[in-house]
Parts: sequence; structure tokens; C-alpha cells
Amino acid sequence: MIRPALSIVIPCYNEAACLDLLHARVSAAAQAAVGADYEIVLINDGSRDESWPVMQRLAAADPRLVVINLSRNHGHQLALTAGLDLCSGAQILIIDADLQDPPELLSDMRAAMTAQQADVVYAVRRTREGETAFKKLTAAVFYRLLDRVTDTAIPLDTGDFRLMSRRALDAFLAMPEQARFIRGMVAWVGFRQVPFPYDRAERHAGETNYPLAKMIRLALDAVTGFSTAPLRFASHLGLALTAASLLLFLYIAIGFFSGSAVAGWTSTMLVVVLLGAFQMFVLGMIGEYLGRLYVESKRRPLYLVADVVGPIQGQATLGY
Ligand code: UDP
Ligand code: MG
Repeated sequence: MIRPALSIVIPCYNEAACLDLLHARVSAAAQAAVGADYEIVLINDGSRDESWPVMQRLAAADPRLVVINLSRNHGHQLALTAGLDLCSGAQILIIDADLQDPPELLSDMRAAMTAQQADVVYAVRRTREGETAFKKLTAAVFYRLLDRVTDTAIPLDTGDFRLMSRRALDAFLAMPEQARFIRGMVAWVGFRQVPFPYDRAERHAGETNYPLAKMIRLALDAVTGFSTAPLRFASHLGLALTAASLLLFLYIAIGFFSGSAVAGWTSTMLVVVLLGAFQMFVLGMIGEYLGRLYVESKRRPLYLVADVVGPIQGQATLGY
């Protein structure tokens, strides 16, 4: 297999107005970084505009351009996955089609990768041009909440704009899960990952393809994919309720023995409170098992080897 030194993977949804300039700027950046030894992979994610004809026109004139048409709109994360699966470069740059992430940073990102011997150089947004206050606020809150509930450390204010090594990408591609939060999955892979601060530009043309509903879906994939905290919440609540109901039980018992309780109130309250607490606790227990079952069902590799010194005889089947 002949690998180009660099693959640039770009998911596109209704980006017809950006594609010509995108192609020109990305090609120039790639040329400056690795000469002619690169490929650009564009994925058309079921666009409703002229994106696909434009891509075909560009591909007809540029042998370094690979264009892929998905059967329908699969969403940003799956479109990107398709491109990552089909690209073949030794290094892989992920970038958005709308030129919010400047392709000209490529050379500096490659330099950072070499200098710091990193497998992933992820771009961190220092500032965000031309995005609404609402988008900036929800993004800031989301990244911070996510950081609190997840077990994997997912970098703050980081999108999918990043440079990856082939081994990091191959490790990522070994994760078969359906609900994909790519920046989290790449963080999970490990190896050496270093930040690269940049200023995010305004969209070149068109408007965001991430309305609130899509952002919420991405946020849910992020939380459920990387944390079982919501499941654990039920058992914590159950424990707290059990403790509270014991206190209430004391109060009711005192009322009963001092004769100040209304007839029938004691037994009704006791049954309601204890049953409620107990149900919550059992639900929480089920949640604990369900959470583990869920983690298992993802069938991720159990470990990843970074380096090996000396010969090994065994054949790895659980790791990667
Ligand atoms: N995108 C995609 N499929 C979708 C939505 C978006 O492939 O269903 C692509 C889009 O073309 C762009 C990237 O994902 O290259 C990021 O989308 P967008 O710029 O709309 O998001 P924002 O920058 O506003 O968060
Ligand atoms: Mg954008």
C-alpha cells in the first residue's frame, strides 16, 4: 500500500459556497507542508445544495482529491468517521469545510507534532469569531460540564480540528461504537496529545449546520459515551432518600407514641416513604448493572500498547 504523507479529511454538508476556496487554501497549505505527497478527502454528507456536483468538478481536475458521497445525511461525526476510515495518509488532518479552522496552521501543527513527539495535536479555540453569544455560552458550559462528569479527560474548547498520527487514527478506528463523539474518542486513545491554541475564524459562507437540536444530540452522545454518572445518580438519590425516610420514620414514631398523629396517617406515610426510597435504590442498582453492561457492549479494545522493546511472542487479542 502506498501511503501519502498526509491526508486531509473534510466533512461537508451544504458547503457548496465554500468548496472552491477551501480546495485552493487546503491544497496550498498541504503543498507547503509536504510537497505533492498528500491527499484531500472530501465527504459529502447528503448535502441539499450543489456541494456534490462542485466536488465532482474539483475532483475531475485534481488527482489528489478524493471525494466521497454518503447515501444520506449521516451527521457530522459519522461523515467524518467515513473519511477517516477511507483515508490512507501517514498523518491525518481533520478540518471543517467552512474555513473556520485556518488550513494555513498545518505547517505549525506538524512542527508541534515533531517537536513534542506527539501522536495528536489538537487545536484549542482561544477566541471564536462571528459566533453568537448563545453558541459561545452553550459551548463553554457544555465543555465544562462534560469535563466534570466524564472519566476520560476531554480537552476543553476543542473541536475536531486536529492532526493525528496513523497509529492514533488506527486505534481510533478500532472503536466500533455507533454513537460517536470523536473528540472524546480520540482523547481516550491516549499516547501523547498536545494542545495547539488558535483563533477561530468566521464562517466563509453559509450558516452553521449545528442548530440547537444537533448540539443537544452531540452533548448526549458525549455524556452517555464517556460517563455512567447519570445512572449512578439514581442510586445516590436512593441512598439519600433512604436516610431521609429513616429520619421521617423517627418523627412519625414520636407522633404516634405521643398520640398527636391523625389516625391512619402514620401507616400510610410509612408505606409511601419507605417504598419510594426502596424503589429508587433498586432502580439505582439496576442502573449500576446497566451501566456496566453498556460499557461492555461497546467492545472497545481493553488496552493500547504505545511502545515495545524486545521481541514478543504472544498474539494480542484483547488489546491493540
Ligand atoms: N457537517 C456535516 N454534516 C452535518 C453537519 C455538519 O458534515 O450534518 C460538517 C460541516 O459541513 C462542517 C462541519 O461539519 O464542515 C462543522 O459544521 P458547522 O460549521 O456547521 O458547525 P459549527 O462550526 O457551527 O459548530
Ligand atoms: Mg463551522
